Amino acid sequence: MPEPQSEIQHFTKNWQQQLAEAFNNIEDLCRYLHLSPDDLPVSDIAAENFPLRVPLSFAACMEKGNPHDPLLRQVLPIKEELFAYPGFSNDPVGDLAAATQVGVLHKYHGRVLFINTGSCAINCRYCFRRNFPYADLQLSKQKEDAAIQAIQDDPSISEVILSGGDPLLLSDSRLTRLIRQLDGIKHLKRIRIHSRLPIVLPARITDEFINTLTQSPKQIIIIVHCNHANEISDRVIAACASLKNSGITLFNQSVLLRGVNDNAEVLGELSEQLFSHGITPYYLHLLDKATGTGHFEVSEAEALALMHQVQAALPGYLVPKLVKEQAGATSKQTIL
Ligand SMILES: *Cc1c(COP(=O)(O)O)cnc(C)c1O
Ligand code: SF4
Repeated sequence: MPEPQSEIQHFTKNWQQQLAEAFNNIEDLCRYLHLSPDDLPVSDIAAENFPLRVPLSFAACMEKGNPHDPLLRQVLPIKEELFAYPGFSNDPVGDLAAATQVGVLHKYHGRVLFINTGSCAINCRYCFRRNFPYADLQLSKQKEDAAIQAIQDDPSISEVILSGGDPLLLSDSRLTRLIRQLDGIKHLKRIRIHSRLPIVLPARITDEFINTLTQSPKQIIIIVHCNHANEISDRVIAACASLKNSGITLFNQSVLLRGVNDNAEVLGELSEQLFSHGITPYYLHLLDKATGTGHFEVSEAEALALMHQVQAALPGYLVPKLVKEQAGATSKQTIL
């Protein structure tokens, strides 16, 4: 079906404008999808706890009239978020709140995670970020300089990972300044960016951003976050192609989510689609057990059984590693 005129016009705008026009309430999103909120288990309280936020470029990938759409499930505030599930807490990863104040998280050998923004272009209901008050944190220039100095002073660090929130919410000029500073650190080999924006707001992949990356003497890796093949629209494909054609290595990480991708065929199709567009499957994460996300959980035993099915159907390079986060460990814990 051709896109309506208003939608075509939206996609001619720059990414900041597209973001400003993102859906921010249940009613508007439902109207766009030809659904009635009365027929869905939506919850205004859940939306107050953690607002709905969905760029049109992501909503446009949802199937109109389908209350069980796997992309809609990732973003719609529903009543189950208010249920208490045993083992789920406000800080399942442990030290994030503290790290955010300093701007860096150095848990694994050789790699530091750089946190300079706490916000995202989309609010994924399964995210542990939902329980943190730092959602709109912006690292001050002073703290950013201190974080860069700490990396400069530690020759054991070979890779900096820009993470968040979503680091691509920083402006091009801010990112360029940051990357040029990292470029100046001799012992750094790689700059890695963890971002969901190439998937949910592909307009973010601007020429200026690509120029900044191609001018860097470091190897650049972008790890996108895509959970379902339906998220890969033509605009996403074009954005990833321009990154790929600029020599940037692309990987994907997903979260295993009940009702979204807890199915061997869905996971297989995701891997196939990603790879056909130049993105290698990297990690499939078990859910971090954050309050409000229990209804997304897939048990470790189920996950393992699923991955055995995926493994039996695909070449090894299309099978992501099934991992979980464990506080205090020296790496992600590989389950399969
Ligand atoms: C996940 C993570 C990394 C990156 O781990 P890789 O296995 O290299 O992808 C680095 N630092 C922290 C704190 C992490 O949580
Ligand atoms: S984009 Fe990533 S960090 Fe942001 S809400 Fe979604 S899962 Fe969380």
